[in-house]
Amino acid sequence: MSSELVANMNPQQREGVEAVDGPVLLLAGAGSGKTRVITHRIAYLIKERGVPADSILAVTFTNKAAKEMAERVDKIMGHTSLAKPMLATFHSFCVRVLRRDIEAMRVNGVGLTRTFAIYDETDQQAVVKQALKRLAIDDKSLKPRVALGRISWAKNHMIDPQEYFLASANPMEEKIAHIFEIYRKELFKANALDFDDLLLETVRLLKSSSEVRERYNRRYRYLMIDEYQDTNRPQYELMKLLSGPEGNVCVVGDEDQSIYSWRGADIRNILEFEKDFPHVRTIRLEQNYRSTQVILEGASAVVAQNTQRKGKNLWTSREGGSLIGFYEAPDGENEALFIADRIQKYLRAAGQQEDAPRCAVLYRTNSQSRLVEEALRRYQIQYHMVGGFSFYDRAEVKDILSYMKLVQNVHDSIALGRVVNSPPRGIGKTTMETLERMALSSGMSTWDAIGKAIEDKLLPQRALIALSGFRRLIEDARAMLGPGFAEKLAADVEEQETGDSDQGTASEDASFDVADFEAAPTSDDAADTTFDTSFNFGFDFGPSEEISTIAPENATDSDASHQIDAVSFNPFAPVILKKSAAASPARLTSIAATEVAEEKPAFRKPGDAATLPELIKFLNDRSGYIRVLEEEATPESFSRIENLKELANAAQDAQERGETLHEFLDHAALVSDADSYSADARVTLMTLHAAKGLEFPLVFLAGMEEGLFPHSRTFTDPIGLEEERRLCYVGMTRAMDTLVMTRARYRRRYGSDMPESSIPSRFLEEVPSRLVEDLGSPPARPQFSGSDYGNSYSTPYPKANRFGAGNTDVGERHYSYEDEDQRAQSAQSSASGSSARSKFSK
Ligand code: ATP
Ligand code: MG
Repeated sequence: MSSELVANMNPQQREGVEAVDGPVLLLAGAGSGKTRVITHRIAYLIKERGVPADSILAVTFTNKAAKEMAERVDKIMGHTSLAKPMLATFHSFCVRVLRRDIEAMRVNGVGLTRTFAIYDETDQQAVVKQALKRLAIDDKSLKPRVALGRISWAKNHMIDPQEYFLASANPMEEKIAHIFEIYRKELFKANALDFDDLLLETVRLLKSSSEVRERYNRRYRYLMIDEYQDTNRPQYELMKLLSGPEGNVCVVGDEDQSIYSWRGADIRNILEFEKDFPHVRTIRLEQNYRSTQVILEGASAVVAQNTQRKGKNLWTSREGGSLIGFYEAPDGENEALFIADRIQKYLRAAGQQEDAPRCAVLYRTNSQSRLVEEALRRYQIQYHMVGGFSFYDRAEVKDILSYMKLVQNVHDSIALGRVVNSPPRGIGKTTMETLERMALSSGMSTWDAIGKAIEDKLLPQRALIALSGFRRLIEDARAMLGPGFAEKLAADVEEQETGDSDQGTASEDASFDVADFEAAPTSDDAADTTFDTSFNFGFDFGPSEEISTIAPENATDSDASHQIDAVSFNPFAPVILKKSAAASPARLTSIAATEVAEEKPAFRKPGDAATLPELIKFLNDRSGYIRVLEEEATPESFSRIENLKELANAAQDAQERGETLHEFLDHAALVSDADSYSADARVTLMTLHAAKGLEFPLVFLAGMEEGLFPHSRTFTDPIGLEEERRLCYVGMTRAMDTLVMTRARYRRRYGSDMPESSIPSRFLEEVPSRLVEDLGSPPARPQFSGSDYGNSYSTPYPKANRFGAGNTDVGERHYSYEDEDQRAQSAQSSASGSSARSKFSK
């Protein structure tokens, strides 16, 4: 039996699979089968060691990885077992723990409850903006995003506001410490946690309650962590707390792929592992099974330039392989067209083959996707974009979700602030400011302040009527869910979870227990986390330059936010929202007409709890949201209505999976861009950060230019530069058969009217030239000496010639542009997903 599981493994991989007792540190290069070792190890534990599946916890970096791992294990196991291992990301696992046990930290009735909200980037920004206002700090002198970056930095290093204050060396730092303090209090008041808190609170919980910790230690006796090089401090602590007395923990990683240090990932975690677990068995893998020799050599040569590494030898039996392609386009548009053209050829050629073709276009920052997307559209090639503007980031979707959040937790002041006057219902800025001041001075939530204002008639009559209507709307929605549903939820959770096994009985969930949230590879990574140079901290804050040159044209709320996802997160079976007869369209129309508050929604029998889609439909209609959009009657407003209908569909799916309001909101709050990746997609666009752990037969690395990649902020920062180089290594090693690197001689930069000339990325120079083939870059000068491109092109990088600058031996490449009509059409289609907020703008 054992031979079956390890038959196709090399001796080191085999050791990794079989060494299940005690701590194991598996350090190895890209494509050496680290992830494969984890999946086989899980199967081995269950099949060979008779370990109950649900006593295994494997933590991956992305939700997608968790799902994929579930599939891989399932395949090996052959669907034999009912009980399933827990495959999760740190964040999803923490949500699960906190939803169950957070109240163990309550002291004398004070503390967060299980109905806590999860604040996303937009929510967080709103809190910071309030704090700035309160401290009378101009948000131009200190950008909310910068403050938030510092707060997150502090949290990832487990520094609290007090410590931050004590360590602050100048007035600006002190201000941030104050903002941090207010931020923390506000979240507490709102019964809310941000993504960083999910980890921190779980650590705090497991440290403070030995009973809870021991329960989890009994439950999860085998712990595995993939992509260990990217764990941060709180995750390390969590790992230690969860590994329990037996210390059966296996961590797997590659120092050369550490690309999240800007978010607190800490290489010390590898070093300290050996200290904290003295009897650790360290295993190294040296065979790469993914890439051809050419690709592997090219990537290894690049990363070998780093000084901060132990160094390792990787080899592959896939000798030779096609050379690494290089193409130097005149400008960004042509670069994208070249890629589209290549992809089209690839897809056509692969059309006959059995295996579905797959390729990826990888880039440094999200904003680079725009040109590639446009080119793919021109070629009518379907693609899947990871990141960018996700459904759950659309203004209208966020608004209705905020209504739902408020229904779940009326003290969620950020959700309240977002929707109290959206659609406009005559609750003005002054009214809200008065209410917020009241809330602040009395320590109440805004919701309670509204209640008090109504009761004591503290505001003008008109405002009071509008506020009463709003309050009534939320209360009615709550009533739909049955009396005291929040309390009931908590009670049912308790009931559900007391059946939890310490001995590891089969979980009731027939499907894989993937609490698959995404552990937040941010869509756009550090490049979009803007840092201000105007002040200098005593701490090492990493990136320290305001990024203006490549600010993303299509930046959204979601950029650089911590995006996490939940797909089938189902920690507690259905409890409250029992499915009742589906609401018929006719009934809904009648609700839509119900502008005046009613005692009870007409269609509801007393005691009958509403379903999730019913709740959404109720909110869509009773809030007047849909009606206002209908009145607007523009293509944009109709597309928004479609989005809201789609949200109801999503809710219907959730309902059918048995999700509660909580779970549905958790899912939406944690939806990650990286999770929009689908393995079936033939063409995937994503940032280099999001590509970690994945592999594709054909990979394009676009925008290989100094300033873009490596990012200009790292020019004066050797450590940051090495991280960029590791990112390049990650990108290159995603390719199995073919790797193509491209760059544009001229690129339009943010804030400049004209495209500016660029310098080839130094990483290109680091690839040995014998491994590189020019794919026909057009000659540099003739067509671009005109005014469009400023001064004639020259490259200050002499070696760049090798990569095609000025290469004239291949004919010029022409791309025909479609007629204006088609261009306009594609412009329109991209606009339909735009973030314009029209009436709902705030
Ligand atoms: P990364 O560092 O990029 O995360 P990894 O070390 O996790 O890579 P895997 O993704 O586990 O590597 O493996 C890379 C590829 O090699 C996969 O397609 C995997 O199936 C294949 N592979 C790994 N080990 C073997 C083996 N012993 N025999 C055949 N194929 C293997
Ligand atoms: Mg891997």
